[in-house]
Amino acid sequence: MVRKLVAANWKMNKTVVEAAAITETFARKVDAHRDVDVVICPPFLALPKVRELLKHTHVEVGGQDVFWVASGAFTGRISSPMLYGVGAKFCIVGHSETRGRFGKLEIPEDLLGHFCETNETVRLKIRALLDCEIKPILCVGETLDEREAGETDSVIGVQLSEALAGFAGAELDGLVVAYEPVWAIGTGKTCDSAEANRVCSMVRDEVNKLFAEEGGVHGLRVLYGGSVKASNAKELFSQPGIDGGLVGGASLDPQEFVDIVTAADMANLQ
Ligand code: PEP
Repeated sequence: MVRKLVAANWKMNKTVVEAAAITETFARKVDAHRDVDVVICPPFLALPKVRELLKHTHVEVGGQDVFWVASGAFTGRISSPMLYGVGAKFCIVGHSETRGRFGKLEIPEDLLGHFCETNETVRLKIRALLDCEIKPILCVGETLDEREAGETDSVIGVQLSEALAGFAGAELDGLVVAYEPVWAIGTGKTCDSAEANRVCSMVRDEVNKLFAEEGGVHGLRVLYGGSVKASNAKELFSQPGIDGGLVGGASLDPQEFVDIVTAADMANLQ
């Protein structure tokens, strides 16, 4: 059985001072659960501070996004060597918010370019991260329309095959894929645990099929994300196909987050 992983996505929340305050609140309690891997993805500005506060724990830090070029005239972007330089060990790519969920629903068409990540740019980001020994947390998932049209598995299959095209299986050792149904993110609607388990298992099979000639991807972990909270974490994490969670809103509440990590630890014991 692989070690469970709980990753916190703080999104655009917390100043550096606020980030330090909540990190101090949960650090010792989360560190008590050493059988669970934990990664905190704060806003870029808070990354060095959060890492410093966690340096004597087993908790790692990660980025929420990355640009695929190492340096140059790309105003506002953050590169993989920059993330490496502040000690990031993981980085989220392909989150539905950077893929364009907000672009489609909430911001005008002319601003879409800020967000519209594609499977091809996700692939470039994965390449850039691997070059700096940062593990990608590749997010995949269907919108509500796609689910209702019965397209969940095919949409995710394309997201995986396009984002992982051209890699060698061995390069992807320790890859993390997060199944995040778009309709469940930040909405309070969690995917039913049996269905989350089914899709996470399908994701694992698909990734291993893509690299079948090399015996699959070693150490692959498939997380579930989408309104994970303390009250549903145990049920989700005890599913055999779910290796942990990518947690947004609930990770901003230190006690809630500690309880989610505790639930992952309890699921390890089952
Ligand atoms: C996320 O941002 O990846 C996420 C799953 O958010 P939430 O837990 O708030 O639904």
